[in-house]
Amino acid sequence: MEKSFDVIIIGGGPGGYVCAIRAAQLGLKTACVESRGTLGGTCLNVGCIPSKSLLNLSENYRKAKNDFNQQGIEISEIKLNVEKMMSNKSKSVQVLTKGVEFLFKKNKVAYLRGKGVIFSKNEVVVYDNNNETSYKTKNIVIATGSAPTSLPGIEIDEKNIVSSTGVLSLEKVPSELIVIGGGYIGLEMGSVWSRLGSKVTVVEFLDHITPGMDREVSKEFQKILTKQGINFKLNHKVTSVTSIQNKAVVNFTNNQTSERIRIECDKVLVSVGRKPYTEGLNLSKVGIKKDEKGRIEVNEKLQTAIPNIYAIGDVIKGPMLAHKAEEEGIAVAEILAGQAGHVNYDVIPGVVYTSPEVATVGKTEEQLKNKNINYKVGKFPFLANSRAKVNNETDGFVKILADFKTDKVLGVHIIGPHCGDMIAEMALAMEFGATAEDIARTCHAHPTFSEAVKEAALSVDKRAIHS
Ligand SMILES: Cc1cc2nc3c(=O)[nH]c(=O)nc-3n(C[C@H](O)[C@H](O)[C@H](O)COP(=O)(O)OP(=O)(O)OC[C@H]3O[C@@H](n4cnc5c(N)ncnc54)[C@H](O)[C@@H]3O)c2cc1C
Repeated sequence: MEKSFDVIIIGGGPGGYVCAIRAAQLGLKTACVESRGTLGGTCLNVGCIPSKSLLNLSENYRKAKNDFNQQGIEISEIKLNVEKMMSNKSKSVQVLTKGVEFLFKKNKVAYLRGKGVIFSKNEVVVYDNNNETSYKTKNIVIATGSAPTSLPGIEIDEKNIVSSTGVLSLEKVPSELIVIGGGYIGLEMGSVWSRLGSKVTVVEFLDHITPGMDREVSKEFQKILTKQGINFKLNHKVTSVTSIQNKAVVNFTNNQTSERIRIECDKVLVSVGRKPYTEGLNLSKVGIKKDEKGRIEVNEKLQTAIPNIYAIGDVIKGPMLAHKAEEEGIAVAEILAGQAGHVNYDVIPGVVYTSPEVATVGKTEEQLKNKNINYKVGKFPFLANSRAKVNNETDGFVKILADFKTDKVLGVHIIGPHCGDMIAEMALAMEFGATAEDIARTCHAHPTFSEAVKEAALSVDKRAIHS
């Protein structure tokens, strides 16, 4: 086994494994250390992939139960088998994590199993059970990701009080689920269990859900989720969560009236955010600095305070998203190979995979107002889109924000069917500096949901055809 590399990447998540493959493609002798036992990180094992599997399956169940009959598809009995659903999810995860292992072999990336510790700027030691192996390297990339956080005094036991990891593997449908935190993970997982039959209540400290999202979209999103049966307690502070036998008790207080509420439920999901994971890496010894939020500090080339040690993904600043980690992984690999690796942080899309989906890229209206940027708004409702109409998926709208003078697209915010895929067109447009006029003049196939994007672009200059 090789003991000396051009680059060793610590962490095999979407940041780390993509960086490893790209570095190997560029001819660098590359190794990737992963302690989990499988590659793919949080995303493939306990994040994006298993959650999307359950979102898809639970939506199919909901449709079969609630919609099919009215659409002329009569099914006499629909039975939910949670165990089968979970094994379906696990199979998808397994296939994809094995797929990354295959890609490592194909690209000649050395897969080092175990926990990586930085011994010096040119040495990584890997601990695997009782074995300890030292490797020399010219460069190191830290891609150790993040872990769920909790609130002070609330202990996650992964039985009654679960994190995003535990909520992906419940053995049966809880009759009542309390979700603490109205961010995208809480809303996606709340949607899954609500569709499968749970009474779901989201308790959020702020007066709105999905902080950071364009406020008009966030309001519409909450309205739609409420219509689907999810309860919201906004502006409420959770004061305690305790586990009593097979139940959990949540106490929370109304921020405005100080009214206290106590709910007894089967499960509590604590989804209040994630923290960068740097445990045991030996950062301070080698002189790597962290900011006040525990994130590794990097410069624009993703270098830490030690020039040959880089950091990418959830462990540094920026949105905690798999595709952001991947872009950074590719940028670092290209920088190491002498190329001009770069990430455009202004054009990182974000998607919430509920039904309907929510997808955004670029600036929100609130951000533009704060920066005193003059803008125009174009909007188009899916109610007026023919494909949405025939598919009975008319909730939501497309909103395009364009510079008042230049017409350049500054932000796009969509709530509606399949917009997680449609946002790619908007990201591409923004990468190329497109104007709303460019989008409006682009021929979009009929009948597609994407015609709503073209109409919203036309609406920027008040010339939408179908509304
Ligand atoms: C429920 C859920 C749903 C999500 N859904 C989405 C989504 O739909 N879309 C999206 O873009 N993002 C989603 N995310 C976020 C996404 O998973 C993360 O942003 C992404 O995984 C970050 O990638 P990363 O490579 O930085 O870190 P990670 O994926 O966290 O990978 C880091 C890896 O490093 C390993 N590691 C840590 N320390 C060491 C060490 N010392 N030695 C060896 N190995 C180590 C860990 O075991 C881990 O496997 C979701 C997250 C969750 C929890």
